[in-house]
Amino acid sequence: MINIQRFTFNDLQVNTYLLWDETKECVIIDAACYTENEQKELVNFINSKDLKPVKIVNTHNHVDHILGNPFIKNQYDIPLYANRKGDLFIRMAQSSGTIFGLEVKETVQPDHSLEEGETLSFGNSGLKVFYTPGHADGSICLYASDEKFLIAGDVLFAGGIGRTDLPTGDFDTLAETITQKLYTLDNEVRVLPGHGPETTIGEEKKYNPFITHS
Ligand SMILES: [Zn+2]
Repeated sequence: MINIQRFTFNDLQVNTYLLWDETKECVIIDAACYTENEQKELVNFINSKDLKPVKIVNTHNHVDHILGNPFIKNQYDIPLYANRKGDLFIRMAQSSGTIFGLEVKETVQPDHSLEEGETLSFGNSGLKVFYTPGHADGSICLYASDEKFLIAGDVLFAGGIGRTDLPTGDFDTLAETITQKLYTLDNEVRVLPGHGPETTIGEEKKYNPFITHS
């Protein structure tokens, strides 16, 4: 049984997800904590539940999603998992940070590339990796087939989709990703996006104004 805790961090309001199971091993997805208070909030929660972080995962490497990686790496010394096609965004982090008023002193290189069809495991649990380009190269979604939830990064939001005007963004690719890989999941699957509230596949298939279900 996978437990989920959501935090919302930094000025760009990124959702950081902490997932853990009965073994108390946990993964930190999109460590977006930026301020000292945000770092403390995350660590205090981990301590309060007696969790053992084993992996950091980036759904994609946009600067607002990776701000906490140096802190987490330093605190727990655990490997970073991200798809290698997103490496360019780590190189760009400092300059893109400036645009959003975010200071990036340090970045962390991925230790392992997560690929389509792979399983991200922790404790007794596993999440299936989907490669989901269109918002940014190197984007992945993580699917828990038993618990029926999807960590969606910036691919699909409640009533929205990821921006396609940033480098490597492409609307047709994003539309294909969403219709071929996400809308094929069951309607009741919970969608946990990188920004904003959660939704479901069924809800978005029915009401999403950008990508309708055909
Ligand atoms: Zn993004």
